[in-house]
Amino acid sequence: MNLPQARISKILPWSCVDGPGNRMVLFLQGCNFACAACHNPHTIGQCNDCGDCIAACAPAALTMVSGRIAFDPALCTQCDACLVACPISASPMAVTYTVADILLLLHRHRAFLSGVTVSGGEPTLQSGFVRDLFTAIHAEPALADLTCFIDSNGHLGTQGWRDLLPVTDGVMMDIKAFDPTLHTAMTGRSNARSLTSAKLTHAAGKLHELRFLLVPGQTDSDAEISHLIRFCHDLGGPLRIRLNAFHPQGTAGAAALAPSMPHERVEAVAEQLRAAGLGTVILPTVWL
Ligand code: SF4
Ligand code: SF4
Repeated sequence: MNLPQARISKILPWSCVDGPGNRMVLFLQGCNFACAACHNPHTIGQCNDCGDCIAACAPAALTMVSGRIAFDPALCTQCDACLVACPISASPMAVTYTVADILLLLHRHRAFLSGVTVSGGEPTLQSGFVRDLFTAIHAEPALADLTCFIDSNGHLGTQGWRDLLPVTDGVMMDIKAFDPTLHTAMTGRSNARSLTSAKLTHAAGKLHELRFLLVPGQTDSDAEISHLIRFCHDLGGPLRIRLNAFHPQGTAGAAALAPSMPHERVEAVAEQLRAAGLGTVILPTVWL
């Protein structure tokens, strides 16, 4: 039987910062962007069972079994040495879950939850799983009042959104940069599809929140902020905008040595957005 399933790097049973209310968050493995400022760089790649991380694992939680990497969580000390060793930003600790597995987890934590959010990585790379999971949640009487949200970089195409939006209650969408050259330099991809996705999800009444990461010397320029304001005005209607502030914790490479975004600059940008008539502007939940 072809069970709907997904590779998932981590599951948070409860989170109050990944959409409205208290939510279970599934971090799906794999991303089509390669952001220099990524805080979860080990969620970008999909493991190809090369075995390079085995030697890095002191407690031998990783072994090769029939040509596939095998992970024993009972032995893992969560030192993350395997993530550093991986040459393709993958994780040997990602686990395959079926829709039925996730429904069981949701039933277990049901009393504390108002919804589920798929994040990543980029969850829409495994859109068949997301669609089947959300459909199953809405069809199950004991879970049907849970809301189903997607946290996305927006690179999914129009047809993909047409498949997902009917079973999705809300989308949190990241716009990494407005200048096309800057966006490509920051992510490795064009921003054209992300901008289209923001318009499409907003027109469908499903854009819960537009997110913009302020990175010192890159996306905090006057030109980027002016473009953000124009883009939001063009979308029209009520809109929530979340400003996130870059900080180097959890990043890799040159980003790990880069300075944090100053709080004062984030607050000044928020004031600028409010003064431009963009009423609901949310500041970072946690300052680092
Ligand atoms: S995080 Fe776990 S699996 Fe990875 S190297 Fe450390 S002990 Fe081994
Ligand atoms: S996680 Fe990375 S290093 Fe380890 S087996 Fe997979 S691809 Fe190779």
